[in-house]
Amino acid sequence: MEKGYIIAVDGPSGAGKSAVSQKLAEKLGYLYLDTGAMYRAAGLKALRQKLDLDDPEALKTIAPGLEIKLEQDRGGLKVLLDGEDVSEEIRRPEMGMAASKVSRHLAIRQRLWELQRRLGEPGGVVAEGRDVGTVVFPRADFKFFVTASPEERAGRRYRELKAKGFAVDFDSILQEVSARDAQDSSRELAPLKSADDAILVDTTELSLEQVVERILQVIKERSSLE
Ligand code: C5P
Repeated sequence: MEKGYIIAVDGPSGAGKSAVSQKLAEKLGYLYLDTGAMYRAAGLKALRQKLDLDDPEALKTIAPGLEIKLEQDRGGLKVLLDGEDVSEEIRRPEMGMAASKVSRHLAIRQRLWELQRRLGEPGGVVAEGRDVGTVVFPRADFKFFVTASPEERAGRRYRELKAKGFAVDFDSILQEVSARDAQDSSRELAPLKSADDAILVDTTELSLEQVVERILQVIKERSSLE
């Protein structure tokens, strides 16, 4: 793909956004911008400093100085928090909820929006999250809203965590996924929702390859019309 497009991929947790976005970025030779990883790193920093994740004033103390970097390496995406590799730690099961809590606060979002735009604005990026097409890059060239049934999403998260060696059970994952979606969708600031001009992709019955192919087809068709 010659032109450096901005491709936004939003959707609820466990919908397959990360795998799809990573594969898509790889195929296009684009940067993979995992905005969720940045919220997870911010949550980790707040937890390490024993801050109250519900207290906006406490979070204001860490927000402006947050330094989060994403590096692509052979083993996947490397996430650096203040220079430290936290790629594995932010994938612990409890980090999803910590990220969701800190992500409700303006000071944290403003700092991460700034970092995300700095990385993505030059184009040639597949950016994945909850508010990429609505808030971070409202003028993105392509917007996709990737979703799947709650049971399927919980099943995927369950298998992913189990494969990493975490002791998890399906019912609590289903509960956690639903609680996080409810919190992400109902918050005032940049809630999880599809942009009006996003293309909906339901992945419940599709394999990763099929989703990537479908998205690539849309991009190719539309860009040939330009
Ligand atoms: O996608 P992931 O599960 O890593 O995201 C963790 C949490 O970070 C989400 O549940 C959501 O609360 C928050 N998030 C967000 N905006 C984004 C990406 C993630 O609020 N663009």
